[in-house]
Amino acid sequence: MTDKAKKLRGRRVVIISNRLPVSIFKENGKIQINPSAGGLATGLASYHQENEGLWIGWPGYNPTTDKEKNILKNRLLNEFNCYPVYLSNIEIKKYYNGFSNNTLWPLFHYFTTRCSYDHSEWEYYQSVNSKFCKALLETVKPDDIIWVHDYQLMLLPEMIRKEIPEATIGFFLHIPFPSMEVFRYLPWRNEILNGVLGADLIGFHTYDYSRHFLSCILRILGKEQNYGQIVAGDRVVKVDTFPMGIDAARFIAGVASEEVNAENDNLMKTMKENKIILSVDRLDFTKGIPERLQAFELFLENHPDWHGKVTYIMLCVPSRDKIQQYRMLKKEVDELVGKINGRFGTPGWSPILYMYRSVPFTTLIGLYSSADLALVTPVRDGMNLVSKEYLACQGQHKNGVLVLSETAGSAAELGEAIIVNPNNVNSMAEAIYQGLTMPEEDKKAALKLMQKRIKRYNVFRWADDFVEQLVNTKENQEKNQQRLLAGRLKQRLFTDYQQANRRLLLLDYDGTLVSFKKKPEQAKPDQELIESLKNLAGDPKNRVVVISGRDRGSLSEWLAGIEVDLVAEHGIWIKERDYPDWESTQKGNPEDWKSNIYPVFEVFAERTPGAFIEEKSFSLVWHYRKSEPELGSLRAKELMDAIRVFLNSTGLQVLLGNKVVEVKPVDINKGKASVHWLEKEEWDFILGMGDDWTDEDIFAVLPEQAWSIKVGFTAFTKAHYYVESQKAARSLLKSLAGISG
Ligand code: UDP
Repeated sequence: MTDKAKKLRGRRVVIISNRLPVSIFKENGKIQINPSAGGLATGLASYHQENEGLWIGWPGYNPTTDKEKNILKNRLLNEFNCYPVYLSNIEIKKYYNGFSNNTLWPLFHYFTTRCSYDHSEWEYYQSVNSKFCKALLETVKPDDIIWVHDYQLMLLPEMIRKEIPEATIGFFLHIPFPSMEVFRYLPWRNEILNGVLGADLIGFHTYDYSRHFLSCILRILGKEQNYGQIVAGDRVVKVDTFPMGIDAARFIAGVASEEVNAENDNLMKTMKENKIILSVDRLDFTKGIPERLQAFELFLENHPDWHGKVTYIMLCVPSRDKIQQYRMLKKEVDELVGKINGRFGTPGWSPILYMYRSVPFTTLIGLYSSADLALVTPVRDGMNLVSKEYLACQGQHKNGVLVLSETAGSAAELGEAIIVNPNNVNSMAEAIYQGLTMPEEDKKAALKLMQKRIKRYNVFRWADDFVEQLVNTKENQEKNQQRLLAGRLKQRLFTDYQQANRRLLLLDYDGTLVSFKKKPEQAKPDQELIESLKNLAGDPKNRVVVISGRDRGSLSEWLAGIEVDLVAEHGIWIKERDYPDWESTQKGNPEDWKSNIYPVFEVFAERTPGAFIEEKSFSLVWHYRKSEPELGSLRAKELMDAIRVFLNSTGLQVLLGNKVVEVKPVDINKGKASVHWLEKEEWDFILGMGDDWTDEDIFAVLPEQAWSIKVGFTAFTKAHYYVESQKAARSLLKSLAGISG
């Protein structure tokens, strides 16, 4: 058994993408089905075949009768392990040409002015996503690994999650994920983000795309991330980067074939001694084709000595020609090519050899291997496989140069290329010249390094890596689920509680008993909470301690009349229930250090809109709950660094809490305060519950058998258990308050 097989343990991988990896056409009245080759299809084919997987998608062909639909379905299933989702003409128009290619595609590639925001197209996008979900439900098996692909199906992960809560779901985006400033233009931004969050693992080609996605999750949905992990309900969703590779071996072997050699000989005869520049792209506005043509024109203008010595072969593959904007682009490109050839061409030489069609694989790799320089200059591209295919096809003996746009995803891996700004026509023209005149040893050195990388992280490694991480993420999730205080575990807690005679409950206040409010003074307890606390504290077997970072005044006022013990300012002040007064655990005059620290806090508050300072008797708190979250957390870290300098040998510490930075004496923390009660008696039931970093000190001092409960899931906590939200924490207390005896 291979490592991969061991990991999958016989589980089937179900791939769902807009298109099935087959091409279908009718010949003499009979349906012909051929497997299609190309980046995604090739990479995933290994999963598809090895694990007898299933591939769900639109076959790209619409049978006209139900009988034909069924025949095609059976053939696709039996011969190709594919399951078709048939789309009607209106669905193709609205979901595919419309919302997918006229809204998401331009928006995600930063062409905001080309986006249409059409409500009926959005409705079709939703209904077609649920059509895919329905198709999955018809065929899915309990242990399947479900892998959803690309921007056409961003709502699907959440839809599947609703139907199969325990499913293992991965999502991979093959196009860029834009910055939050651009993404937020989308009227349905929340729905799209929540749709994707239904997955367990979310993959992007580059770190920047992952970073933008995480930023949108924070700024739009208000969900924090921790090392790429986001808590969504009771699941931890992982976001990571997986740069997709190519099947390098297939290209290398192809170039060595006789057929390709023969094609190359023919090409060389036509080209004579001319250097060949090559570009290969779908005719799409993201590919920067007009800008590239302008750069080539400028190169010819600046370097007349190259006239007649270089030919630019421009292969444009027709794409989305049903969309008006694509037809206009075609016209623009046709005119530019005509203009340049007309301006510089001679009877024996045409500067540009323009092909508007797709070519067979052998022709394509023949061109790749013959070209002296490849111009890959998209204005924005998720990955760009052409750049990698070109390098692979140069093999051991050629020294081709790659001119690559900095906004292609592959630029993150191919730093040895000549990197250009695709909108800077001057620098692209110079890059062409530089590439054509570069010393051979420099070309070779750059090429070798890039080829090595392409061979190693190929498309199979990419797919393996993603699926393996998906399985790992799910396993971790399941381990965490075992710590969720629900079902039997919750029942055991109730039984323990009921059977105990001396119970200690240590409870944090904000984020545990009450939800966070924009202003600290708004967090007054409501009637339901007061009832629960009264019932709990009124039970003679119980001792209830509310341990808070709040000042004495607020706690005394809010919890007046309830028989609870109180800890204020993280342990600086203690008030036992049987005593009328607060006692300080601290000596000395805090004004000495406060006067040094306060001005620094003030500077940071002024520079951070929404931030403010709270002064407590023995501590200073800098709040940034109302600030823009990313700026707030950046400033909080900067503030911590700035403050540390002042704190050396002062007996003070600086702590990062939940949207706060707090300076207070070193020997003060909620753990120390907890010990005061832990040591009071021989408790036979101890429960500690809290939501933020300062509560970790409580968990740390609790004995092993205690119920330590984190409010809200995080992968990093000393607590043994967790409840999913502050609401769940309140409901737990209410249940305990209702248990008598
Ligand atoms: N390609 C093709 N037929 C052609 C020319 C190109 O199948 O006539 C393939 C090429 O080999 C590459 C893909 O089209 O794998 C283009 O992928 P890329 O990531 O560069 O851009 P995309 O079209 O996905 O935006």
